[in-house]
Amino acid sequence: MAFRLVLASHNQHKIREIKELTAHLGFPVLGLGEVGDLPPVEEDGETFHANARKKAVETARKLGEWVLADDSGLEVDALGGAPGVHSARFAGEGGGDARNNELLLRKLADLPLEQRGAQFRCVMALASPDEEVEFSEGVCRGVIGYAPRGSNGFGYDPLFIVPELGRTFAELSPEEKNRISHRSRAMRGMLEILERVSRAQKGG
Ligand code: IMP
Repeated sequence: MAFRLVLASHNQHKIREIKELTAHLGFPVLGLGEVGDLPPVEEDGETFHANARKKAVETARKLGEWVLADDSGLEVDALGGAPGVHSARFAGEGGGDARNNELLLRKLADLPLEQRGAQFRCVMALASPDEEVEFSEGVCRGVIGYAPRGSNGFGYDPLFIVPELGRTFAELSPEEKNRISHRSRAMRGMLEILERVSRAQKGG
């Protein structure tokens, strides 16, 4: 079978972002929902690397395919790097983006701008069908605002201000976000790996 890549994610925002970033590579990229009905892998690791590896390897084992997984989250300086790997469930299971953002604003209430530094981090893991893994990582620094702004993107995007642009991630177009985001930076390293792997799979 010709080389194709399965993304170990049901998050439509992430899938769209990664499909855009890999579109020029010339092989099919599919979301998990497009290849079957697998139960989600439990993200119980203590690090982004551990979670990305687990998602990629477990999915590659079940499907017998090349699988790319990412684990990402927000690390806030004043919170010692929290919510980190717990970003999706910061306000509790099923809390959702709005609750997570409210909790973050409450925890940072009263802090001046210079103490509101934060970064998004993304770790990508590519697993082969025989479960070998390669990683890439990307970071994007910013500042947590005082109120949500903008309606694009997802998660903490409305609170995450990019200082050089003076706008939140949610105020950027998808193309603008893709140029600087943690995910696109991790993807840049992963693209080199994918180009090598897909060339080898095609036999040249
Ligand atoms: P993951 O799906 O396990 O990687 O969880 C990532 C969580 O981190 C998401 O649910 C968001 O809360 C947050 N996150 C990761 N990347 C982004 C982003 O690009 N914008 C906003 N929030 C993000």
